[in-house]
Amino acid sequence: MLLKGKTAVISGGAGARGIGFATAKTFAAQGARVAILDLDAAGAAKAAAELGPEHVGIGCDVTDKADCARAIGEVLAATGQIDILINNAGITQAIKVWDIDPESWARIQDVNLKGVLYLSQAVMPHMRERKAGAIACMSSVSAQRGGGILGGAHYSAAKAGVLGLAKAMARELGADGIRVNCVTPGLIQTDINAGKISDDARVKILENIPLNRLGVPQDVANIFLFLASDLSAYVTGAVIDVNGGMLIH
Ligand code: NAD
Repeated sequence: MLLKGKTAVISGGAGARGIGFATAKTFAAQGARVAILDLDAAGAAKAAAELGPEHVGIGCDVTDKADCARAIGEVLAATGQIDILINNAGITQAIKVWDIDPESWARIQDVNLKGVLYLSQAVMPHMRERKAGAIACMSSVSAQRGGGILGGAHYSAAKAGVLGLAKAMARELGADGIRVNCVTPGLIQTDINAGKISDDARVKILENIPLNRLGVPQDVANIFLFLASDLSAYVTGAVIDVNGGMLIH
């Protein structure tokens, strides 16, 4: 029971086959009370109900600062405390760099990068007052290798931005007892890429993965568990690859 007595907020946890929900299930099994925040309010409520009556699911658009504050207020009203924030919500778009228009650039930055800032800001007053907290942010291998298999340059830029934002937050919040870390997953089988990987592409991708398989949501959930728990009490500003060895060189 690594998270007994703790409350965790997880953004983007509505999808049953997503990384967010796998993380929510893992945290609940380790004793945490979980609040799932998602643009899909009904999906968030359903996902929380699946975990049990003590968990909550709340609609929240992470691109909207006021909505983040409102949702975190609702979590605090329901649970009284927030110990952990997992900034997981994100979207991607497979598009060539020459086709990126202002709208798609803005949307990808807003959800993947600005959303991390707004939701983190919303929990900061509470965590700073308690002088404790663990925040973990979702980046991507796309930030490191440039270009994703399924994401465009705007997605790579947003996820690289998450690395800088998380490191800066780690520096500024350390004195308040708040740790901030990142995960950089490789290709994880979820709805974000379901049906988009051809057999040929799969063979090519696996050639570059020493562990010779695509990732599953639980692979990432386990790392979020480490970063959320006291096992990582002396870890902040870190970036943990979860990619089967894709970047070994
Ligand atoms: P997913 O589509 O199941 O999860 C994304 C969730 O974010 C969805 O539930 C969606 O409703 C929610 N969301 C989207 N916009 C939102 C908004 N404005 N406000 C609140 N919630 C919003 O896909 P996933 O693969 O589980 O993705 C989770 C995270 O992991 C994303 O940030 C993604 O970029 C990242 N990631 C995924 C992979 C992969 O291969 N699957 C690899 C690296 C990083």
